[in-house]
Amino acid sequence: MQLASDGFASLVGALQSALDPSRVRSTPIENVLYGRDALGSAGGSAGVVCFPLTTEEVQECVRIAGRYGHPVIPRGSGTGLSGGAVPVPDEGLAPVVIVTTKMNRVIEVDEDERIAWVQPGVLNLDLSRKVAHLGLHFAPDPSSQQACTIGGNVANNSGGPHCLSYGVTSSHVLAVEVVAPDGSVLVLGGLDPEPVGYDLRAAFVGSEGTMGIATRIAVRLTPLPPAVKTVLLGFPTLDSAANTVSRIIATGYVPAAMELMDQRITEAVEEFVHAGLPVDAAAILLVEVDGTEAAVEEAARVVAEIAHDESAISSQIAQDEATRAIWWKARKSAFGALARIAPNYYLHDGVVPRTRLTETLRSVCDIADSFDVTVVNVAHAGDGNLHPIIPYDGRDQDQNERVHEAGNKIAQLCVANGGALSGEHGIGLEKRDLMGVLFGDDDLVEQDRLRLVFDPERIMNPHKVLPEGSRCSEVAQLLARAGKAWA
Ligand SMILES: Cc1cc2nc3c(=O)[nH]c(=O)nc-3n(C[C@H](O)[C@H](O)[C@H](O)COP(=O)(O)OP(=O)(O)OC[C@H]3O[C@@H](n4cnc5c(N)ncnc54)[C@H](O)[C@@H]3O)c2cc1C
Repeated sequence: MQLASDGFASLVGALQSALDPSRVRSTPIENVLYGRDALGSAGGSAGVVCFPLTTEEVQECVRIAGRYGHPVIPRGSGTGLSGGAVPVPDEGLAPVVIVTTKMNRVIEVDEDERIAWVQPGVLNLDLSRKVAHLGLHFAPDPSSQQACTIGGNVANNSGGPHCLSYGVTSSHVLAVEVVAPDGSVLVLGGLDPEPVGYDLRAAFVGSEGTMGIATRIAVRLTPLPPAVKTVLLGFPTLDSAANTVSRIIATGYVPAAMELMDQRITEAVEEFVHAGLPVDAAAILLVEVDGTEAAVEEAARVVAEIAHDESAISSQIAQDEATRAIWWKARKSAFGALARIAPNYYLHDGVVPRTRLTETLRSVCDIADSFDVTVVNVAHAGDGNLHPIIPYDGRDQDQNERVHEAGNKIAQLCVANGGALSGEHGIGLEKRDLMGVLFGDDDLVEQDRLRLVFDPERIMNPHKVLPEGSRCSEVAQLLARAGKAWA
């Protein structure tokens, strides 16, 4: 990688002239620190790390990187779980990582229209806290919401427990100001309820940093519900918990959230959070219903009835906000609690139709057994989004291989059962080479054409999302003619 060359020194010098030099970093420690995200197993190396404050500074960074031909990696907090923000050197050229965490201002809140303009580095939970006094919140609530940025949420089209009824990030983004790979500024979408023309906002949301850098985002704010009931259910088997989810959804009633944890992860979380979870249950469900008082009463009754029918062994309703908060803290601490089981974990994100939840969870356990690895299950079960997690010791090469082979099988299982590779974490580096399991060559080519419209020079987050396996494509031929490799 070009780190010590004159060209690299001159790139760093140009960036330092554009930004305050203290906000352009290229020491070995930063290379390592910003060389990873929360996926953990994929590591790159950040050539130079920039911390812009404004759209203009982002433009400068992108233009300078482009002039020197270096790849650009947009980055928020680095909590991504698919390696999306991992800087991969391109043709030996050190990546320029553009971190948005200092662009953390809520620019404007329009209480009447329920819209906020924010910079991309605003943390998800900070926005909800900021507008809570208006009776509003930002509905997408990834479990990482204390740490992840809204720019990262937009790039990954993130979900969260309450996206079951409120919808994922895409439903809450009206417009995005983007610094394009050539350094120009575009505004995609608009504040009108029905913006005219092609919906490029929709193409950008979920594009994982491959089409440009979001520098301002207009988000919808959602009223806080008038009433909420949170129910904690314990089940004798994983099957009975999964069946309960399918049956609740089949009634046509959609709870605000419906989260599943199996016994192993419940025990690990309980030791850590002390939330009073039923650790004797083979699986638990945390179900939240919201709406008017009357609707909430009725929904809670339906949930309790189905759970009882599925032989639930315990059922509790949170009697106060403190109990509700600690149950949610328990659920949102699930990944962190895994450190109690093993030093590393490999987390999956497949999604399946809710009618196939039970059989898929059974097959996940069978796959784990066949590779002699342990699996724990957490799921945004209401929308069929599974998070089977394999705790392991990354220092053991043999375990490493078995864990990753089991992971590939689990991803393929979700697709075979009518689902998809990712429910919310994105494709990134992690699932890039599995895209061919879900899409044919023609589909991949069309996706790449769209990407090329935004990034004809292929400098924006190369090596992510699309597999290298589509080299036979027309796009690859065009690239070959232009003397560029498939990225
Ligand atoms: C404990 C834990 C729990 C989690 N729970 C959930 C969950 O419930 N639901 C969920 O969906 N995810 C979850 N995640 C994953 C992660 O938090 C989300 O994907 C989050 O949106 C990433 O935000 P970030 O700021 O950390 O982005 P990063 O990890 O820094 O980047 C993620 C991707 O976005 C791109 N990007 C970042 N900022 C911009 C920008 N301004 N413009 C263009 N591209 C950009 C990057 O290039 C990268 O491809 C969890 C992660 C952890 C560690």
